[in-house]
Amino acid sequence: MARIIAIANQKGGVGKTTTAVNLGASLAASEKSTLLIDSDPQANATSALGFQKDPARRTLYQALILGEPIERITIDAKMDRLSLVPSDKNLVGAAVELVSMENREYRLKELIASIRERYEYVLIDCPPSLDLLTVNALAASDSVLVPIQCEYLALEGVSELLDTLMRLRRTINPSLGIEGILLTMYDDRTTLSKQVAADLRSFFGSQVFESVIPRNVRLAEAPSHGMPVLFYDIHSKGAESYIQLAKEVIANAQERVGQGTERTDPGTGAAASAAAGAGTSPSTIAVGGPTRTGDSDGGGDGAGT
Ligand code: ATP
Ligand code: MG
Repeated sequence: MARIIAIANQKGGVGKTTTAVNLGASLAASEKSTLLIDSDPQANATSALGFQKDPARRTLYQALILGEPIERITIDAKMDRLSLVPSDKNLVGAAVELVSMENREYRLKELIASIRERYEYVLIDCPPSLDLLTVNALAASDSVLVPIQCEYLALEGVSELLDTLMRLRRTINPSLGIEGILLTMYDDRTTLSKQVAADLRSFFGSQVFESVIPRNVRLAEAPSHGMPVLFYDIHSKGAESYIQLAKEVIANAQERVGQGTERTDPGTGAAASAAAGAGTSPSTIAVGGPTRTGDSDGGGDGAGT
């Protein structure tokens, strides 16, 4: 049964979508069948996977608002074991239309329930807000992964996000855990990046992933080529860092199974596995390399399975 992870931070431009796309691709390359749900009307994850705007393509909007089964809007993300529930700008309407709907916080949870058995991971890319789309994602998830950019004022907004998480745990999803806090756009040449990373680690302790995502131009370029960085430049630092993160996520899941417990307490965190991936090289990824399937230039609205 899939582990469902929301990738959320209401602050814009911190690396949510870059993480959703590249962690998703890295999990798939590690032979974990993965579904990426683009729950942001900006549809950046959809386009980063090579799906250009197409008014004919059905999106999460049809599922959330019109009740279309999610498997009918799921498309093959042109890579073995990676599927996508696409978004487009119509999803802006969903955030508004949901307000007056019954079960408005649980629509996504209900949609995902029917397909949970088909995947090992479901990642949800959230918009930069705490609107009903994000609330639906958090209500549907086992845990939340919070990317934080290593820059001045990095902590700004994080306490608001943590307050929201605590409130959601009391009200709509008591089992929501913290998958981990992810340091993004880290630049080891600057004292500022190092200082921010040190501050975040002392503040959040073991809830911070060991894996750190460096500032890397390949990560910024890959979306314009419509592919995860694994296909654009597998030897880049950016690709290595997301492969490492996938290993850590997988190791944490295995650790939870070993303990027979689900860690859900944001106070203790679920990203504690410092040992995860330690001593293993990113290049030891399980497969000989990722397999890209289908056309590289979008379009293919094949029926999802
Ligand atoms: P939004 O809040 O608008 O949804 P986001 O949190 O999803 O933004 P991204 O879209 O992933 O953030 O990243 C913002 C910008 O920074 C993008 O142009 C992306 O290509 C770039 N970027 C993200 N991570 C990195 C990185 N590690 N190195 C270099 N550029 C990066
Ligand atoms: Mg985004």
